[in-house]
Amino acid sequence: MLIPAAHYLTYAEAVQLYNELLDADISALVKTCGPPSFPFGDGIWYQLLIEETEAEAAHDIVADFEARRATVAVIRCPRCGSPDTAPVPHPTWWQRLFYAGTTLYRCAGCGRKFAA
Ligand SMILES: [Zn+2]
Repeated sequence: MLIPAAHYLTYAEAVQLYNELLDADISALVKTCGPPSFPFGDGIWYQLLIEETEAEAAHDIVADFEARRATVAVIRCPRCGSPDTAPVPHPTWWQRLFYAGTTLYRCAGCGRKFAA
């Protein structure tokens, strides 16, 4: 019997998890789920179905994948490597001009300002 291993994945996530499971010799079935997307009628999200007998083997891979999905990318300071950085709330006019199209960050560790 097929059981869902993960759902509400984007297409890119579904492909990545599918490949990770495949590396562990677990073949998954990718299906759409969620509300249908206009005009194609398929769901806008993807889910991965696996054989119930392989659920135990897949559990760690899926759990690891879910943990990485939930992790927000951390922006690190290019000088000291500290992850304690935050966008500068009110850049001056020349900073806005100079860093146009990027976000100006300030490192709480060493005070360096950098664009990301
Ligand atoms: Zn720093």
